[in-house]
Amino acid sequence: MVYLDNCATTQVGKEAAEKALEMMRTNYGNPSSLHNMGTTALKALYEARYSLAKVIAAPTNTIYFTSGATESNNLAIQGGCGCAEMGVNKGHIVTTAIEHSSVLGACRKMEENGYHVTYIRPDPISHSINANDIINAVNPNTVMVSVMAVNNETGEILPLKKIINGVKAKNQKTLVHCDATQCFGKLPFKLYEYPVDYLSASGHKIHAPKGIGILYVRTGLFPVPFKYGGSQEGQINPGTESVPLACAFGAAAESSLKSAAQNIQYVTQLKEYLIQSLQTAFPYVSFHAPKKVSPYILNFSFQGYLSEHILDYCSLHDIYLSASSACTKGRKSHVLKAAGFDKGQIDGALRIGLSIYNTKEDIDLFISILSDFFNDIHSIS
Ligand code: PMP
Repeated sequence: MVYLDNCATTQVGKEAAEKALEMMRTNYGNPSSLHNMGTTALKALYEARYSLAKVIAAPTNTIYFTSGATESNNLAIQGGCGCAEMGVNKGHIVTTAIEHSSVLGACRKMEENGYHVTYIRPDPISHSINANDIINAVNPNTVMVSVMAVNNETGEILPLKKIINGVKAKNQKTLVHCDATQCFGKLPFKLYEYPVDYLSASGHKIHAPKGIGILYVRTGLFPVPFKYGGSQEGQINPGTESVPLACAFGAAAESSLKSAAQNIQYVTQLKEYLIQSLQTAFPYVSFHAPKKVSPYILNFSFQGYLSEHILDYCSLHDIYLSASSACTKGRKSHVLKAAGFDKGQIDGALRIGLSIYNTKEDIDLFISILSDFFNDIHSIS
């Protein structure tokens, strides 16, 4: 089995799995209980929060647990704009056309609520988001700019520093939210370098279980919650915290912090090997590469071949990759379309998400199955 779909989700790491088990079997108190078991669970939850805060150099009390990046994105956009309510025409939001469906969905909801949303498209030649396009769209009525750090399909690294500086220079009151799901714990991101107001991340992209995420909320901001209950998570996300999942996310964050530089070096070399192997075996391969791309992601196609045919063939041979975001369930990529790739590239798009658990042998096996696919197809036709 070769798993190359690590943008969709990752295998849970040993440290995270062991931590979750410990919290479920031994340290299972409710962190809001006042007795000793509760206090011990609260301490573990605090340690997890601290580990996650360290990844982005945030104060520990600015990290709120959520069920994942979908919830974090919705809380930041719907709750964050609610908090910054400007009154006049309900304000303006700027985002990009290549965001994850959870950001685009939240923005559509805000449009229904009377907000005006500007969707910035990548430059069609470089296939990349131009920071100035975002900055130019900001006006005195702009409540929020929501931009991702790394695109989950093309791997594009967005020019976040320039965006933050430009947006704040143009309108100091505009809040900046960053969906850092494909960056958090994988690429360097510290708040002193990228001083955003809100940041979303998800556990299952960095070898923690599914169903846990965080929202960083800059001190002094209070997003309007969707639900009401107890005083957990600063009342931003009330309800008993999933301590096993939160602590597993903390453990995964610690592991990623320990070997951040080696991990990047490892996947960078692996991606270079993958690109070279693809080019050597299939000289007609077309890479869908914006200007700056994450070493964890590669998007490409073979003109004239549909993604689904290749994916099905690979899946039958225990090789797992995807065409676009798992959350869009087989719909053609809105990202590649917005980024100006042609129909053949969109219809044939394949996305590989690498992880530190992948090896050169995985790549060799993938290339050999892909060669079999092309041989089989040609022998039929
Ligand atoms: N944003 C991005 C960029 C993502 O890649 C994903 C996961 N596909 C999400 C948000 C949603 O994350 P979750 O599955 O934790 O809700």
